[in-house]
Amino acid sequence: MSREPILQPPASPSEDDRALRPQRMEEMVGQRDVYARLQIVVDAATKRGEPLGHILFDGPPGLGKTTFATCIPRDLGVGFQIGSGATLKAPKDLVPYLTNAEENSILFIDEIHRMQKAVEEFLYPAMEDFRIDLTLGEGVNARTLNIQLKPFTLIGATTRTGLISAPLRDRFQMREHLDFYTIEELAEIVVRNARKLQVEIATDAATEIATRSRGTPRLANNRLRWVRDYALSRADGRITLDVARRALEMQGIDNLGLDTQDRKYLQTIARVFDGGPVGVEAVAHTMNLVPDTLIDEVEPFLLRSELMIRTPRGRRLTAAGYAHLKSEPDNPSHAQGALF
Ligand code: ADP
Repeated sequence: MSREPILQPPASPSEDDRALRPQRMEEMVGQRDVYARLQIVVDAATKRGEPLGHILFDGPPGLGKTTFATCIPRDLGVGFQIGSGATLKAPKDLVPYLTNAEENSILFIDEIHRMQKAVEEFLYPAMEDFRIDLTLGEGVNARTLNIQLKPFTLIGATTRTGLISAPLRDRFQMREHLDFYTIEELAEIVVRNARKLQVEIATDAATEIATRSRGTPRLANNRLRWVRDYALSRADGRITLDVARRALEMQGIDNLGLDTQDRKYLQTIARVFDGGPVGVEAVAHTMNLVPDTLIDEVEPFLLRSELMIRTPRGRRLTAAGYAHLKSEPDNPSHAQGALF
């Protein structure tokens, strides 16, 4: 029997988001190796009637960590709860999740690297022996209560494996890294989702949107929704290559899929810090952003595209990074032809 989540994700996704999220692992595009391994453990757990081993997903945002975590319980036909590491500040915040967990059900903790240390330590016996130790009362009256939990599976997701302590990491039986998607995979997602949104799209337009989505399904979906609106408002509702290009250009998304913020990051390193090396905190400060935004959302694709590199002394722009800025019209120094 499959169930809907009994607790909603903290940042509740929009209607469209829910409409576009695959419901089953077999509906997911790409990540074939990860899918194949998960399919085996899901199949084996079903046959044994035992809970799945704990799983940790890592990778940049928008690549499908939550999607895998929500598809797995549906494929298994078990209950599902969802929480976020950021809101688990003390062991007591975790207790309801653990005591509510039904036999063989899934508990998904997003941003698990943000969990407080005390919560993490409280989780260890729960993960290993399905047991928690609660301390009641204080001082001489304090006593420990051992509570036996039903066997469950923890699925953790993180954008930063580096911040997960070794003892926590080692308690996950499976660790899966999600990487960026190919243009072909993203184009397939765009075509499928255009069908779900009941909008007509040309094949080359789908490829164009995929090319400008920074390897990320979430961005491909966001771009598709914007292009759909643009097509309806400025054209006859059909998404042609020309409509897609005009729509994406109006949003400031360039031919690599970078948006204004991504380019501003490269420009700040180029102009203010002379191309680097510079610490990410200094760049974040100059841009009026928190470093986490740059580290989690902006840098992974820029690093992967080799527009910048990380060195022991800080971030540095590459020749490709400079060349990209030069080719972009919204670079103020471009008009002056001065700085590069
Ligand atoms: P994460 O948890 O890694 O930040 P999500 O799982 O929330 O990313 O994915 C963001 C959106 O991208 C989902 O709502 C879904 O629509 C889409 N998506 C992610 N992975 C896939 C996939 N493999 N196939 C199709 N769509 C996907």
